[in-house]
Amino acid sequence: MARAMWIATALSLFPEMFPGPLGESLAGKALRDGVWDLSAIDIRRFAKDRHRTVDDAPFGGGAGMVMKPDVLSAAIEAVAVPGVPKVLLSPRGAPFSQARGRELAAGPGVLLVCGRFEGVDERVIEAQALEEISVGDFVLSGGEIAAMAMMDCCVRLLPGVMGAANSAHEESFEDGLLEYPHYTRPATWAGPDGIERRVPEVLLSGHHGKVAEWRMKQREEITRRRRPDLWARSRTAAGNDEK
Ligand code: SAH
Repeated sequence: MARAMWIATALSLFPEMFPGPLGESLAGKALRDGVWDLSAIDIRRFAKDRHRTVDDAPFGGGAGMVMKPDVLSAAIEAVAVPGVPKVLLSPRGAPFSQARGRELAAGPGVLLVCGRFEGVDERVIEAQALEEISVGDFVLSGGEIAAMAMMDCCVRLLPGVMGAANSAHEESFEDGLLEYPHYTRPATWAGPDGIERRVPEVLLSGHHGKVAEWRMKQREEITRRRRPDLWARSRTAAGNDEK
């Protein structure tokens, strides 16, 4: 039986930002091929007054505006589908991860609520049971780019989108380690600093076992040096405390 299409819905005050970069390359082709579908819906459509107001000043004072609960909730109500996770992009959210991306990609799709201004009225998060997700410890001006990053991560995991590369599971984060370094032709290359750099000999040896061993060693080395947090976790997971 054919797999049902994976459906991403974005609620945004700037729906014309979509598909944006997701219309290109892998994700764009998959979109045109009907592997997934994207609808971006304007939250302003659900405003009730003549001025189409979507935000208001914060109770308690302070800078900026807050997205109104009634309007946002009506928008969510109109597009939510039972069984499809409802996510609010938020710097306060749980850090997005490859693991969460895999879970979402394995499901029917995702509803992504994109905040603007200072954020959204807390009561909508509660009443709509929104899962708050962050794409990193920095502040964007809106949730749209964060939503696109999440969609991109999920879409490349959908069956058929990436082909063989996807099944390898050797990518960064898939097993808690960062990726090994890549090289392509020419085997010797002089950079702008005039230094001739040669590809590591083992990669030219044609010895698959040795190549695999070298790559694993590199992954461990790079992870240990750059991401001690990931390294510590991968050691714990492996139940292996040598090194
Ligand atoms: N006042 C908020 C920041 C609001 S930024 C605070 O201090 O936390 C406006 C909107 O951009 C947010 O509502 C959210 O939807 C989005 N956004 C900003 N940074 C984000 C991040 N790191 N991850 C996910 N969404 C983010």
